[in-house]
This record gives sequence, C-alpha cells and structure tokens, in this order.
Amino acid sequence: MITKTLDIQTIRKDFPILQREVNGKPLVYLDNAATSQTPQQVIDTIVDYYQNYNANIHRGVHTLSQEATDAYEAARQKIQKHFNIAKAHEIIFTSGTTQSINLVATGFTSFLKEGDEILVSAMEHHSNIVPWQMLCERTGALLKVIPMNLDGELVMEEYHNLLSDKTKLVFCNHVSNALGTVNPIEKIIDAAHKVGAAVLIDGAQAAPHIKADLQALDVDFYTVSAHKMCGPTGVGMLYGKEEWLKKLPPYQGGGEMIAEVTFEKTTYADLPHKFEAGTPNICGGIAFGAALDYMNSIGFDAIAQYEDELLQYATEQLLTIEGLKIYGTAVHKTSVISFNIEGIHPYDIGTIVDKLGIAVRTGHHCAQPIMDFYQIPGTVRASFSFYNTKEEVDKLVEGIKRAKNMLL
Ligand SMILES: *Cc1c(COP(=O)(O)O)cnc(C)c1O
Repeated sequence: MITKTLDIQTIRKDFPILQREVNGKPLVYLDNAATSQTPQQVIDTIVDYYQNYNANIHRGVHTLSQEATDAYEAARQKIQKHFNIAKAHEIIFTSGTTQSINLVATGFTSFLKEGDEILVSAMEHHSNIVPWQMLCERTGALLKVIPMNLDGELVMEEYHNLLSDKTKLVFCNHVSNALGTVNPIEKIIDAAHKVGAAVLIDGAQAAPHIKADLQALDVDFYTVSAHKMCGPTGVGMLYGKEEWLKKLPPYQGGGEMIAEVTFEKTTYADLPHKFEAGTPNICGGIAFGAALDYMNSIGFDAIAQYEDELLQYATEQLLTIEGLKIYGTAVHKTSVISFNIEGIHPYDIGTIVDKLGIAVRTGHHCAQPIMDFYQIPGTVRASFSFYNTKEEVDKLVEGIKRAKNMLL
C-alpha cells in the first residue's frame, strides 16, 4: 500500500502556536500526549460559532437555535462516521474521557454485587483506576489487575487466567499515555465476551493515531477526549452499545435529559439526551467535529506512517545518549517515548530543556502504578504528533545532552 507523504511544513502553517517563541527560542512542542495543538480550521470554527450562531440547542424555535442544533448534531454524525458507530444515539457528548468513565462506573453500581470482579490493566491512567475503586467500594466487587512485563506489554496469559464467570467488567486503555504501548484490544474484548463480561476501552491516547472501527471491535464502551486530537478541551465522547445505554441509569439530573417532570415522578428522555443533562459544551462539540474533519483531510494512514518514522528516528537518536533508558519498548507503540538518564531527576531535565523552548512532560503522567512497577519517581516523556519534525527531534537530543552536561 502506498500512503501519501505529508508536507509537514505546509501542515505546520495550520498551527499558529507553532510559530511562537518560548524563552527566545522557537517552540518545540513535544507534549502531545497531554494535549495536542489546535489548527486554524478548528479555531475558525470556534470563532464562527460565537460570532454568528451562538444559541442554546434543542429547545428554541428561533433560527439561531436551529442552526446551533443542526451543527451540534452534524458533529455527532461526524463522530459516528469516523468511528463506524451503528447509531448516532449511541454517542454521548461528555466533557472528556474522565467524565465518560465516571458515567459508566457510576451507572454500574446497581449491576454489581459482592464477589463480582472487575479487571483493569496495570498500565491505566488514574482516570481509569479511581472510578473503578470507588465502584468497588460502593458494591463490594473486587478489583483485579492484569499485570504487564518490563517491555510495557500486558501479560495476556495472566489475563486469561484472571477471567472467570465472576468477571463482570474489563477496563483497559487502547494506547498507554505513559508508555505508548498499543494494547491487543481485539483479543481482550473477545476473551471478556466469552465469559459474559462487558468491556470499556479508554481510547483517549489512541484516537489521535488510530482510527478505531467500533463495530468491528464489538466493544461495549469506548471513550475519547477531543483535546488530544486537535480539538478543544472540555469535550469528548462516550460510545456505548445501545443495549447498555438503555440499561444504565441517568448520570446527572437536569434539563434536556427528561421526557416529563412532575413532583411525583420524572420520566427520562430517549438516548442520547438521557445522559446529556444541562446545556452542553455546544461550541466544543461542533469544534470536535471540525477537528475530525481536519485530521481526516490529512489521513490517518499517512499520520500513522509519519509518526512511526519519527518514533523510530527519535528512539535511535535518544539511545545515542549514554545512560539514557527508555521505559516502554513494546513491539506495537505510538509516538511516545518515556525515558530517564541515570543519576538525574526527570524534573531537572524538563526544566532545562524548557529554557531552550522545548516542551516535554515530566512526572508520573497520571499513571503512578507504572512508575512503582519500574521503581522510579517518574520519567521525561516526549510525545510526537504529525506536525513535529526530525529537526525538532535533533533539538531535543541536543537539549538533553546540554542538560546532562550541566547536571552531572
Ligand atoms: C488523557 C488521558 C485520559 C484523561 O483524559 P481527560 O481528557 O483528562 O479526561 C485518560 N486516559 C488516557 C489514556 C489519557 O491519555
């Protein structure tokens, strides 16, 4: 298969922030796993909304309200098409992955009892651990962990051993934000379904790199945050199979989610409105749709191929630095590199390279259990997007060498 080559310099012009300087140096933005930057096309969508048709949706008969409603629902359809979702009402707009997971975890309270088991992977983001711990406290269910190996891959044998007819739910990220590991979610979903367990896949870190086909995966729930894929913060989606969303109780009460309210009894609205109480992030939802349009106009095959080249190049170049160790060496990885240099605290490296205009993340990346596993306080994490370049990788490598000379 021939994938088109990307014209990175033209793509970079779409991102105004990439033109700015930090500490007198051109910005080198390598913190894409925390949040991605926003192209002008998405910024224009946001400005257009507030300049021309800002109004509340689904309620007004006036023109602005109808235009806003149409644009918001068109965004839902873009999400539907992108992720190959059977029905648009299986998409719930949320504030992002964290809220999506909390919605499901809260909803499962009445479905679980003492002795039931929930499996979560050893490489989860805190937002995919804590809601399940809270669910276990409410229900008496037991949380069990699917272990990983030193390469940062799940030990699938152990997973199969943990599954039983007690397993009611399995939770795993599609891609680990701390290590970049792409997990074998097809196998995880199939095996869970064989024992009758439901599966939630946290797609926050996968969605910028991999176009997931949710019908082919046959997953029960899938979550995405728009801000990790060129969209704005504070908006995302929960996909849920219709049968699950019908069974789950509403998450929040309020306007929009009701069919009829009296003081004696309230009946709930149909999907998706049952889960969309109150005025949503209308502009954010519309901009999420614009972000999908933008990324699809570049093409996910081309993005994946280019980012993989960057990953290989950056891995090779970083490993030329003596004492540098990479955490997360799975065979299937996205463009995330977590590393440390012997004898240096990750925070010190992050601070020095920031003086050179380079943005990397340091710390535990909301995944403390992974750091405990490797017995380290944290890592430096460089995460690359399709708008990064090999020259920027070179600047990172130079910056780290400088930091090392200063600190050792
Ligand atoms: C970013 C991220 C989250 C949390 O997403 P929010 O947008 O902060 O809700 C959860 N899981 C993974 C894997 C992530 O990368």
